[in-house]
Amino acid sequence: MPGIEPLQAPDRSPSPPGTIDVAIVGGGAAGLATAIFTARRLPGARLAVFDGARRLGAKILVSGGGRCNVTNRDVRASDYWGGDRRFIDSVLRACSSTDAAAFFEEIGVRLHEEDGGKLFPESNRSRTVLDALLAEALRLGVEMRVEQRVDVVRPSDESLFTLNVRGRAETARRVALATGGLSLPKSGSDGGGLAIASGLGHRIVPTTPALAPLVLEGAFHRPLAGVSHDAALTLAAGGARPVNLRGPLLWTHFGVSGPLALDASRHWHRAVVQGLPVKAHLSFLPDLDFPGVERRWLDEVADRPSATLRGALSSWLPSAVAAALVAATLIDPGTRLAHLSRDNRRALAHALLKWDLPITGSRGYNYAEATAGGVTLDEVDRGTMESKACRGLYLVGEMLDVDGRLGGFNFQWAWSSAWVAARGLSHSFTP
Ligand SMILES: Cc1cc2nc3c(=O)[nH]c(=O)nc-3n(C[C@H](O)[C@H](O)[C@H](O)COP(=O)(O)OP(=O)(O)OC[C@H]3O[C@@H](n4cnc5c(N)ncnc54)[C@H](O)[C@@H]3O)c2cc1C
Repeated sequence: MPGIEPLQAPDRSPSPPGTIDVAIVGGGAAGLATAIFTARRLPGARLAVFDGARRLGAKILVSGGGRCNVTNRDVRASDYWGGDRRFIDSVLRACSSTDAAAFFEEIGVRLHEEDGGKLFPESNRSRTVLDALLAEALRLGVEMRVEQRVDVVRPSDESLFTLNVRGRAETARRVALATGGLSLPKSGSDGGGLAIASGLGHRIVPTTPALAPLVLEGAFHRPLAGVSHDAALTLAAGGARPVNLRGPLLWTHFGVSGPLALDASRHWHRAVVQGLPVKAHLSFLPDLDFPGVERRWLDEVADRPSATLRGALSSWLPSAVAAALVAATLIDPGTRLAHLSRDNRRALAHALLKWDLPITGSRGYNYAEATAGGVTLDEVDRGTMESKACRGLYLVGEMLDVDGRLGGFNFQWAWSSAWVAARGLSHSFTP
């Protein structure tokens, strides 16, 4: 990892017996990484990870379809949404995806690259990632307290915190909150940590699902279930600048999924939560504009005038999509290209490039891969991840108001924010 300085022992001046030096609440990606990076900098310090779940790392195990997309070769602040991009940029620069890949190599997880710069473990098993993190944390002497949900964190005097853990009190000199957001609540991330942060004086930016499949009104999508193709999606909310996204789209029995729909979901939810009217349009031919489609039609008419409309469109798009689009425009699919009227060409071009996508919602947190919103970045120090509202408290990972697009960016945020917090924690113990 970058710039790990000579390790420091914590200043152990007066703390009651049994006091934990750093209590980490939440043992997911961000919590485990915070424990490891901090323990490496503070050998001899007493670190304990508290997690409400019976087994640690449930989300790591299910991530990336069971393969864990650990990070991405090319990570930038513009791959993220939420709070101040300069904050996000500063954290990502402190620990880049190259640094994260080197860290995983160091703990025995070799990565390989796939489409779009996505990095996966060579084993193609997320278990490899989780096991390596747990082994490294244990090697460094981090205490793992499973089935130990923390309900309340209270600063008890100027330098100590009291944690309520299943009716018992634990004392810690520093606390790192790493409780995640609300996505996949059965994994243990149910937003309880946001209530703790709020209780400690933090403003919570309203949360919504992110990276969730989208539910559509009507029946257009039903016969297309299982069909996938490249598309572009434009979301226009109120008077705001429209969001333009491009990627693979998968039609399903309830609506749309696949990277394009997942990436779009946070924008739809954010608009709704702000009370803005939102319109979504799909382009089935993302490389073409209206004049381009017109030119293509005219070329087709010249090349094969006796081809049917449905036959011609099936060479542009998956045939099920072509059939559904022609049916929706009410044009006879058997029309020969030579006989296609100008008005019908225009209607088809409109359907192909500006298809109204009637989004009524998403599949919610149970299917979301991330959470948008969370603890505002305004109250966190970007150089240390320490709270400005509550000194000695650090915040990392998905519980912050940062959400990345699909492709390994959310884990990278966990690793980077953990690294910055570990730097802040270790410096906080320096006399
Ligand atoms: C299905 C799915 C697939 C995904 N795939 C990818 C992927 O391939 N690549 C990628 O970059 N991202 C992926 N993500 C997103 C990524 O998993 C998360 O962004 C990341 O795990 C967040 O890490 P975290 O440590 O902040 O939170 P979490 O992983 O949610 O961990 C929080 C932990 O805190 C514990 N906890 C919560 N409240 C308390 C409490 N009060 N007391 C004690 N413990 C508590 C929970 O039990 C949990 O273990 C995926 C997410 C899902 C749901």
